[in-house]
Amino acid sequence: KQCGHGSGSTQVFAASMNARVDAAAAIEARLKRALTRGGLVLHYQPVIDMQSRRLTGVEALLRLTGENGEIVGPDRFVPIAESAGLIGLLGEWVASEACRQHEAWRHQGLPPVTIAINVSPLQFRQRGFARTLTDIILDSAVEPACIEIEVTESTLMDSMEDAVAILKNIRAAGMRIALDDFGTGYSSLSHLSHLPLDKLKVDQSFVRRLANDRASRAITGAIITLGRTLNLEVVGEGIESEETLDYLRQNGCDQAQGFYISRPLPAAAFADWYRAHSP
Ligand code: C2E
Ligand code: MG
Ligand code: MG
Ligand code: MG
Repeated sequence: KQCGHGSGSTQVFAASMNARVDAAAAIEARLKRALTRGGLVLHYQPVIDMQSRRLTGVEALLRLTGENGEIVGPDRFVPIAESAGLIGLLGEWVASEACRQHEAWRHQGLPPVTIAINVSPLQFRQRGFARTLTDIILDSAVEPACIEIEVTESTLMDSMEDAVAILKNIRAAGMRIALDDFGTGYSSLSHLSHLPLDKLKVDQSFVRRLANDRASRAITGAIITLGRTLNLEVVGEGIESEETLDYLRQNGCDQAQGFYISRPLPAAAFADWYRAHSP
């Protein structure tokens, strides 16, 4: 046996730890470069009205291009952006880019498209978040009503009063607010009626299990009823089949989003999708 091979498993463990740290460091470096020199891109996933099947808007989903042109998804780099203190800049890039794209589509003859933007909890709590966001939107030619801000329950939970104040500022500027991944957090239902919201997005985990799981059907039904009662639009996300789409429509869900309708698309591909799908 060669020297040093006695503690093989520890070495393998250390090596994989180092690989992960290296990968995170590489993504951080990549992000920093992308923020100044390009490499970030938004893809757009259509959301349609359940009844008419017409487009109601798109969700902007952020991607980072890696060293070799591969695409890195937000679940991998958003946590790194948060811990590296880059999430504020990243969020500003997303808002500006969404506005730029909205205008570009209009010049291409598309009607004004509502664009939903995701905001992470840390970003939401940063000082001046609502002000900065509002400035970006007002500096653009985009109508604030065409911008929808997606927050999750966990974003709103700790210090509800501050969260409500931030949401109210966003709303006062004319933007809309959606509660994303709804049903997975622990937000108390009594708080929900005090939040300035426009939309509830039923979490994908329930939607995915609608066909096979009674509990998911019950929870989804309750969310739709809650949305109705509070006068909120309800969106089913993660719809991957006609059956799921039908089920949600028949049970009173207003809007649909998922791979069955369309995957998230680059801007040009979305324009083609729109032209092919609009009457
Ligand atoms: P989300 O906001 O809940 O976005 C929906 C995610 O589900 C997207 O993943 C989308 O591609 C995926 N999806 C949509 N339809 C289907 C379907 O039918 N089946 C399946 N299996 N998946 C579907 P993506 O793009 O990887 O984004 C993941 C999360 O990253 C988002 O979840 C959002 O929380 C976050 N994110 C995305 N863009 C941004 C951003 O610009 N800023 C921040 N802070 N977070 C972002
Ligand atoms: Mg979202
Ligand atoms: Mg979601
Ligand atoms: Mg999510």
